[in-house]
Amino acid sequence: MNASTLESRNVADAPLLGDHLALDLLNTEVRGQDGVIDYWATDDDVVRWLARHDLATSKAGTRAPSGLLARGRELRSAVRAAITARKAGHPVVVGALNDHLKAYLTSPRLRHDEKTGALVLSRDAHCDAAASLLGPVAEAAATLLVEGNFTLVRQCEHPDCILWFYDRTKSHKRRWCSMAVCGNRHKASRFRERTGSARQSRAVAPGK
Ligand SMILES: [Zn+2]
Repeated sequence: MNASTLESRNVADAPLLGDHLALDLLNTEVRGQDGVIDYWATDDDVVRWLARHDLATSKAGTRAPSGLLARGRELRSAVRAAITARKAGHPVVVGALNDHLKAYLTSPRLRHDEKTGALVLSRDAHCDAAASLLGPVAEAAATLLVEGNFTLVRQCEHPDCILWFYDRTKSHKRRWCSMAVCGNRHKASRFRERTGSARQSRAVAPGK
């Protein structure tokens, strides 16, 4: 991702830097210069985003289930509310997210792997197409809320950025969605502060 893609609305440019499916779901909305940019504008956008996570195939000619965008946006706001509350140590309201989990009906199925013939346990979805597509995302969010280490679930420190990530670095000192974007924006503003203060010969409060 570079600075220009922050202003792009092409779902192929939506940042995948959350290191967790549920956080990348939140990252389909980014803050641009004129407010929040939503990378999801159509049902097909949602399918293309799911395909980038290997949760759908986005072959030309296959139609996205209608209503997928609306359902996806509902899921995203439920997940955003839950993760924000959990991060802040507030009670997590689970009703809206549970509606999505409840709609995701699956059963386990044994099958033989096509290449090796080995037995594989997978799950088949038995629900409408939108619920089948969004179910794994809802489940990933629920799992994160239960099992995630929320000291490592963080929002980028840049004040103009709303992206989330799971800090899987060894040192657990990740501060930015991306060093190339917000890390550099931070460095540049620190540099402007320093050179500006030297010119004006007055102290400037250090940035965070
Ligand atoms: Zn950022």
